[in-house]
Order: sequence, then structure tokens, then C-alpha cells
Amino acid sequence: MTFDYDLLTIGAGSGGLAGSKRAASYGAKTAIIEGDLVGGTCVIRGCVPKKLMVYASSFSHLYEDAVGYGWAEVEPSFDWKKMIDAVQKEVLRLSKMHIGALEKAGVELIEGFARFIDPHTVEVGDRKITANTILIAVGGEAHKLDTPGIEHAITSREMFLLQEQPKRLAIIGGGYIAVEFAGIMNGLGSEVTEIIRRDQVLRGFDEDIRSNVQEGMIKHGINIVTEKVVRKIEKTPEGLKVILSGDGDPLLVDAVLSATGRKPNLKGLQLENAGVEVVNDTIAVKVDSNTSQPHIYAVGDCTGGMELTPVAIAEGRAFADTIFGHRPCYLNHHNVPTAIFSQPQAGTVGLTEAEAREKYGDLVKVYRARFRPMFHSLTGADEKVMVKLIVVGPTERVMGVHVVGKDAAEIIQGMAIPVVMGARKKDFDATVAIHPSTAEELVTMR
Ligand code: NDP
Repeated sequence: MTFDYDLLTIGAGSGGLAGSKRAASYGAKTAIIEGDLVGGTCVIRGCVPKKLMVYASSFSHLYEDAVGYGWAEVEPSFDWKKMIDAVQKEVLRLSKMHIGALEKAGVELIEGFARFIDPHTVEVGDRKITANTILIAVGGEAHKLDTPGIEHAITSREMFLLQEQPKRLAIIGGGYIAVEFAGIMNGLGSEVTEIIRRDQVLRGFDEDIRSNVQEGMIKHGINIVTEKVVRKIEKTPEGLKVILSGDGDPLLVDAVLSATGRKPNLKGLQLENAGVEVVNDTIAVKVDSNTSQPHIYAVGDCTGGMELTPVAIAEGRAFADTIFGHRPCYLNHHNVPTAIFSQPQAGTVGLTEAEAREKYGDLVKVYRARFRPMFHSLTGADEKVMVKLIVVGPTERVMGVHVVGKDAAEIIQGMAIPVVMGARKKDFDATVAIHPSTAEELVTMR
């Protein structure tokens, strides 16, 4: 049987773009289907615009910090619309750049939404397209709770497009998106209340990351309401009324951001026509990204794994290398570094202290330091950095590194290399420090 394409990818986000370009580099006749802007969550409504907004929000602190260094106090003013327009302009530039990269790689872009007709055929509009191999990389979308009035809440998708800055913002959730937007909006001058159902944000991260991020957020002026859930959201002439569990007055805000996790974007795909197994609304995949259909693969957020852009990219490339490059390779999902662009920022790789203790018991040793970074010695701000190493066994193998504070993401990227390589504490100790820096603490801890 002949097919229109060797590879047909559904979804031009991080995983789909990476897998398609790599497959085409091996000579596969490849097309990619996208119904929205090319670039996916990361480029269009995730990492990229978020990080730009983190930068935008950081200036307010810098204005304050500069005074301690001799700069005159100024009354800064901020133009929300100008920032949103500038961010969107950059997003569109990057989307176009990705279209150019597809053309250069020889990957055909098909615009529209795909639905399966049978295991080898997909329909886009009135066009039927067949392929020998299919890669599903449709990503995910925000999942809202079924709280009464939740239709009044927006998600991160809409946050990037708001034409007016909400002066009072309530955020539901304590994960990545919630803490990142809390920092952004607080830095931009909004009054932010974050509502979490636990006692601390960032469940699943090392306890020192959780406590230090939360403490820093509160110091920056973010109101964190703990151990409460939202019972109801009501629209009133004065704003949105957010009614919480337990006692206490409702909140009155201009906007509510729902950040309670994401779900794979499988609507309309008609995976049942392809015989692709879906478990808990997620495409079930094996270690090599293969689905229940031998010729259909899935990568990225739609597989319910780590919802991180670099993971989707690595999975897409591993798929293409294996199937079209005939170089079997699988992504190792252990020791994936990640950063939370909260304020203060956090970066982490490897085991948390709790995970290490559960796995290795008394063999675990923890090195930790908490200090005021040099930058703040003149600003007077009560800012702290936390660095922590988790080491295991008599050789003191470094199994986890956790950092909270300025540049944590940049520091952790470098720290991930020795952790992946299996370095020991004595390798860290044998490394000469860079002074004065925050990162030097990681090679000087006793
Ligand atoms: P997360 O899974 O990180 O957090 C979801 C939050 O919602 C948690 O605090 C969770 O609480 C809370 N929640 C879930 N259900 C309920 C409920 N019924 N009532 C009250 N609270 C609830 O999801 P996000 O939406 O923040 O982000 C999605 C993913 O996107 C992340 O997991 C991450 O992989 C990725 N991402 C990565 C970024 C980065 O790399 N910097 C940035 C942004 C997103 P609890 O903890 O108690 O379950």
C-alpha cells in the first residue's frame, strides 16, 4: 500500500516540530498538521510569553533595589497594553520563524484540525491524508474545576491576551502556573491572592524549595490563602466575588485565574477510529512513545508525562532517530532538571530529600545553606538564597540539587550535568569556586 506521507504529525508544538524536522532530515516525506498558530503551548501561550512577562515584572523590584546603590528614587509607571502588544509581537515573530524552519527542513505544513478516519488516514477539512507512520503531538489545555461560577475564571491562555491589567487578581492553585503568575502580576503592581488547598505551594518539590518559595512570595507581598478551596465565583457589579471554604470574607477581585493543572487536548481527534488506547483521558504510550497501534506514536503533554517543553522535544527527536534514523534511543526521564520562574525563582534536579530518604534511608546526607545574596547587601531587601545538595552512600553520590533565589534556573542547568553523570560530593569539592557568586556555595558546602 502506498501512502501520501512517510510521517504525518498532528500538532506543531515543541514535540511535533522537533520530531518532524528530525524525521525529514533522514529523508522521510513528512507533513505536519496545525489548526492554530505554529509553535504550540510553549511558544504561543506558555514558556515564551510567560518568561517575557517575568522579565517585565522584575523591573519594579530593580527600581527599588537601585536606590541602595545610589540611584535616585523614581516613580515608575507601567503600560500593560504596551507590554501585551510587545509580547504578542514577539510570539508571532517566533511562530513565523518556526514556519520558516519547517520549510527549510522540507516539512509540509497543513493548516487545520485533524481527525482520524482509520489507523492510516486523517481528515483535515475535506482533505483525506494517509501516512505510513503517524505522530500525535497535540499537547494539552488548562483543566478547570467544576466549581460553580468557574466560567468567570480565565486560564493562562487568556492571561497573555488580557487588554486590561486586573488590579485585583485571585489565583486558584499552587503549582507552576499559579506561582509564576502570582509573581508576575505582583511585580506588575496587581494585588494578588493565591488560594491553595495545602499548607504550602508546589507540592511534589523538595520541602526546602516549597518553604523558601512561599516565604519569598509572601515577603514580596503576595497573599497566600492556605488550606482553602474556592466554593463559588459570582459576578457582581463591583467585580468577581470569590467564596472560599470555611469562615472568612469572600474576596472581591477583577479576575480569577484558574491554574489547577492541564489535560491532553484530544477533543475531536476521534482516536477511536485509529484504535489508539486512551487511559484517563491520556494517550497511553510505551517507553518508546509507541501507542497501542504499532505505527502510531505520541510525544509531549498528550501522553500525560512530564509537561515540559524540553522533554517533548527530546521525545520527538528520540522517536524520529529510532524510526527514521534507525538509531534506537529512548529519553531517560530521570534527572530532568526543571525551573519554576516564581519570584523567588527555583531550580531543581534529581531526588527531593523526601524521595531520597524513602529510597535510601540512613544513607542520605543533606548539605544546605541559606544566606543573603551579595546583591542585597546594599539594597536592604530581606531576600534569601537556599542551596541544597542531597548525597547518598559512602561515596556521597550527588542525587539531588535544589536552589531557590536569583538565577536558580541558570545554576540548575549546569548542576544537572554532574547529577546525570553520577558525580560525587568530592567532585564538587574538587571544583574551584567562582567568587563572589551564589553558585560557589554548591562547591564549598561542608
Ligand atoms: P500543576 O499540576 O503544576 O499544579 C496544579 C495545582 O492545582 C496544584 O497546586 C494542585 O494542588 C491544584 N489543584 C488541582 N486540583 C485541585 C482542586 N480540586 N482543588 C484545589 N486545587 C487543586 O499544574 P499547572 O496548571 O500549574 O501547570 C501544568 C503543567 O505545566 C505543570 O505541571 C508543568 O509541568 C507545566 N509548566 C511548567 C513550567 C515550567 O517549566 N517553568 C511553567 C508552567 C507550567 P495539589 O498540589 O494539592 O494537587
